[in-house]
Amino acid sequence: MPDANPTGCPDRRAELAAGLAWVRSRIADACVAAGRDRSEVTMVAVTKTYPASDVLALAGLGVSDVGENRDQEAAGKAAEVAAAGADPRWHFIGQLQRNKCRSVVRYADVVQSVGSVRLVRALGLAAVAGRDRPLDVLIQVSIDADPVRGGALPGSADPDAGLYPVAEAVAGADGLRLAGLMAVAPLGWEPERAFARLAEVARGFRAAHPEAVALSAGMSGDLETAIGYGATHVRVGSALLGMRSTLR
Ligand SMILES: *Cc1c(COP(=O)(O)O)cnc(C)c1O
Repeated sequence: MPDANPTGCPDRRAELAAGLAWVRSRIADACVAAGRDRSEVTMVAVTKTYPASDVLALAGLGVSDVGENRDQEAAGKAAEVAAAGADPRWHFIGQLQRNKCRSVVRYADVVQSVGSVRLVRALGLAAVAGRDRPLDVLIQVSIDADPVRGGALPGSADPDAGLYPVAEAVAGADGLRLAGLMAVAPLGWEPERAFARLAEVARGFRAAHPEAVALSAGMSGDLETAIGYGATHVRVGSALLGMRSTLR
């Protein structure tokens, strides 16, 4: 692998290996504490702001899933990683604009951040036209119903943003597969309270959509709590790759 190392760290691979060992042990400990099997939890390495060389190093260390939040950055990175012969599962985890769907469906295996029927329609059309297998979709749930940060609204029948209208749209769309739910703990909420609320929403949701078992919750700071409340995917950036210089 070329020695692309914008961090200035003398041995980036060793640094990533150490971060990975730490995060893996945290996940394993949290599974023990929750009485869950380690195989129930997938770590998604959130590589936003970090270069393709980091994705390749992580893939070489056994990381199978990576997450990105901006198409502009992710499209080129995914192409670079593929050209180097690695094939991780790409999760799109950021706010997605409808005009970016055609690009995202070309490299993403999962889109975790779908919160409106209008976006489902655009993503479904793009998936049918641009890929040869269905795209996995997680519906992003708004835990505090703050319209600014987005996410579908549990307990709302709003035809565009209600959780169940969005789920019906995904389940009925050619090219999409309803895989589960995703959430971010709202700012200012204790993770405990946020993920307890999310677990309650997920329980009701699975009664209606038993195939949609994925629950993506928990980041560097709160992954233990999320695992305690049933997360099947944790999205870990800074604990693995280092603090980002920008707030995203
Ligand atoms: C950046 C980001 C993460 C990772 O956050 P860290 O605190 O760096 O682990 C997780 N989920 C989403 C949606 C993100 O945008």
